[in-house]
Amino acid sequence: MDYSIQIAKIKSLLPDVDIVTESEFHLFKNEKFAKKAFEYFIIATQNIKEKLNIELNFAFRYQHNFNATAYRFGNENIILINVGIINELEILIDTSINNYLEDPFTIQSSFPIEKNILTELFIYLISSYIFYHELAHILQFNFSTVNNSFSFSEQYNYTKPFDIKNHIYELDADSFGICIGTILLLQYLENNKIQDQIIVFNLTSLYLFLVSKVFIEFTNKPLEKLYYKEYSHPHPVIRIVECNEQIINTMNLNMSIDKNFFLFTLKRCGDLLDKTIKKNNSSFNYSSTLTNNFENLEKYNTEIEHLNDSYKELTRFRAQEIYNRLGIASEI
Ligand SMILES: [Zn+2]
Repeated sequence: MDYSIQIAKIKSLLPDVDIVTESEFHLFKNEKFAKKAFEYFIIATQNIKEKLNIELNFAFRYQHNFNATAYRFGNENIILINVGIINELEILIDTSINNYLEDPFTIQSSFPIEKNILTELFIYLISSYIFYHELAHILQFNFSTVNNSFSFSEQYNYTKPFDIKNHIYELDADSFGICIGTILLLQYLENNKIQDQIIVFNLTSLYLFLVSKVFIEFTNKPLEKLYYKEYSHPHPVIRIVECNEQIINTMNLNMSIDKNFFLFTLKRCGDLLDKTIKKNNSSFNYSSTLTNNFENLEKYNTEIEHLNDSYKELTRFRAQEIYNRLGIASEI
């Protein structure tokens, strides 16, 4: 479907939203990267429409904060990705890959994949996570026909009051999106016949690290203050833990590598977060936050797990079927 047709549809449903047309791509800080992401999102939209048989429109929104939004209006669904995400994402990925490659541990272990290849790969994986996280909200909204109109904005919701249902939806959308990124990483390993454990270790650790950085970027709350039942979105640390666990479980299911190997990737990711977040003058320390709050984190996660069963609209109950229909088949 032509982008201009999708824009017209979005404009008819959301007349006040400022959309970036194809002739306005110079508004992005990096037009080349914006075009690449655009092509990827358009292909994903087309595939989703055909395979899942839903109406879906995608557009870039002219807003500078790191945010994305999913909408449902009757049969029509919309995913808006802010210009701010595209402007920040390449810098975030580039800086984080540099942090990773310059770290003495990486230098010692020798990581033979060139930086430009890593950048391409992770732009694809992280964009997938962001896009499919929004798709998960649309699939949650569409499961029930009772409520005809819904919207979910990522960053804005950190300021809204607490609602446990939003936390449940959010962690479900994270799990759905992150799993797609992980399957794409597994496919990359397979297509390039990568079996060397050191390379798998480095790629997995780098993926965990980048995903964690995205959550830190999405929040507008101070990281130091870990909260549970406050605000509409779970605290970034909770989201990082959940997603990292999901990545490890999916990789472990699809590879014959000892689980301890993957536990080392978590440790590596935590060490890198501690080093790099400190650099930005924050007193936040990821690893000690985890250690000091382990019991409460477990308690919160167990409560969410039990509550999940009451929300049949969650994608987790039909994720395998959806991935198969989308042609992203792998064991989850
Ligand atoms: Zn969300």
